[in-house]
Amino acid sequence: MNETSPSPDLIVVGSGLAGLATALAAGDAGARVRLLTAGDLLSGSSPWAQGGIAAALGADDHPSLHAADTLAVGGGLNDAAAVDVLVHSGRAAVLDLLESGVPFDSKSGRPELGLEAGHQRRRIVHAEGTATGHVITKALLARTVRHPRIHVSEHTPAQALLREGHRIVGVRSGSAIYQGNAVVLATGGYAALWGRTTNTPASRGAGLALAWGAGATLADLEFVQFHPTALALPGRPAFLLSEALRGEGALLLDADDRQIVDPLLPRDVVARAVARHWQERGPVYLSMRHLPASVRARFAPLAAQLLEWGLDLARDRVPVAPAAHYCMGGVRSDDAGRTDVAGLYVAGEVACTGVQGANRLASNSLLECLVFGQRAAAAALADSPDARAAWSTTALPAAPDIPEGKPEPDGSRPREADDPVLDRDLGTERSKRHLQALVRALPRPDDTEPCDPRLVPHLATRSALVRAESRGAHYRTDAPQALPEWQGHILWRRGMEPQFERIVT
Ligand SMILES: Cc1cc2nc3c(=O)[nH]c(=O)nc-3n(C[C@H](O)[C@H](O)[C@H](O)COP(=O)(O)OP(=O)(O)OC[C@H]3O[C@@H](n4cnc5c(N)ncnc54)[C@H](O)[C@@H]3O)c2cc1C
Repeated sequence: MNETSPSPDLIVVGSGLAGLATALAAGDAGARVRLLTAGDLLSGSSPWAQGGIAAALGADDHPSLHAADTLAVGGGLNDAAAVDVLVHSGRAAVLDLLESGVPFDSKSGRPELGLEAGHQRRRIVHAEGTATGHVITKALLARTVRHPRIHVSEHTPAQALLREGHRIVGVRSGSAIYQGNAVVLATGGYAALWGRTTNTPASRGAGLALAWGAGATLADLEFVQFHPTALALPGRPAFLLSEALRGEGALLLDADDRQIVDPLLPRDVVARAVARHWQERGPVYLSMRHLPASVRARFAPLAAQLLEWGLDLARDRVPVAPAAHYCMGGVRSDDAGRTDVAGLYVAGEVACTGVQGANRLASNSLLECLVFGQRAAAAALADSPDARAAWSTTALPAAPDIPEGKPEPDGSRPREADDPVLDRDLGTERSKRHLQALVRALPRPDDTEPCDPRLVPHLATRSALVRAESRGAHYRTDAPQALPEWQGHILWRRGMEPQFERIVT
């Protein structure tokens, strides 16, 4: 397709794994696709995914066991039907990738299966050790740019969604208008709003702000996963040290080489233990020195990067601390990517399909991108023009405790969204007092802006304040237990007070 082609059937926004999976599924189904991306084609989190992609491929495994593990860490907020889709279609999607020649690491002709926290079976497929995201993204990208029906525009940020009546039909980028029959947002998450983050600057919640501006519902914004083991070396980025390292035996040690926590406990538990140790006792180190060289060799690209920064995995312990990593919250969608606005679909980390619940199981997100990207494409092409999802909301179980007014003394200076204060007050541990101060201090979003970067930090903080309990990745020191009345989703829609959708069990 070239610039003068007739308008496409589908506009896909974002060139991460979800955007690529969506565009290819639509293009292969015969549709004309316009794929826009804010940065270059390898922008976003997908090329950085290290650990791998989960699929029940082992002889001792079954999708139902994968589903059980996903639900066990999800804090009671998963959508069980969507999880079922993820594990069954996910297995097929990974087998398709293998068949199409994606070079996953293998032994005796079978993919090597790794172990990660929360998985009761070895089921993590990886490529070039810790370069899984890069290898898969590049493989799909190669197919995308060659595809006769997909037209790609780099450096084209979507800045507003276009409406025709009540339906979304396109996007605006600068003065350019891109119009189609439907739009799929695949713009990634919002973890780059935090000061310490494993994400690239692409992940600042632009897709959520666009969808909100169009009237779509946002959900579960308080649930942000902090990865326990990101590099904590002054002057260096919070480079991720994958969970796969701990799966292969890496330990978490204090300055005296004593283990501080079982490294294979769920991610949120390990992250809180690491953060607390730093606060109360001092540095935490990840160590692989005791493991055979053959194990370290599996992580060659990561080891090479650390060596550039003066750390040798065979000799040195690596200082690590938590960093904002993955967002369970997003634009509310059904299990085919439909939002509650006709013509607007979502896929990947921008979406809240309910598969990740209150806490994502490691290596389930690349899988979500593949499976739900394909499903969003199919739905967007097949749906009637008015199709949209609907939610059944009620009043919140407790009155929203959202103070307005003067800033508290420590909130007196204006705070930007990615000020390190988000790490402190909306980090691994939260409290009513700090959240209240943060709500007062954060700049308020402008309701008339179609894509306001202040929106997501504001709503995420208010959600964390409203949810007066601890569940999944959201931990409140003043309410450390999960409470049955909070088993549900906090939903936000433009012009409305927060709503609650209770899960009926
Ligand atoms: C360091 C790291 C390691 C990880 N490891 C794993 C792992 O091992 N296994 C796993 O399953 N998951 C892992 N994850 C999570 C996983 O990588 C992400 O959840 C997933 O890649 C998200 O894919 P996506 O396509 O939804 O978004 P992204 O890959 O983030 O892509 C978003 C795209 O949207 C574009 N975009 C954003 N805003 C706009 C706009 N306004 N207009 C146009 N384009 C826009 C961006 O430029 C980008 O192209 C990891 C994440 C990180 C950061």
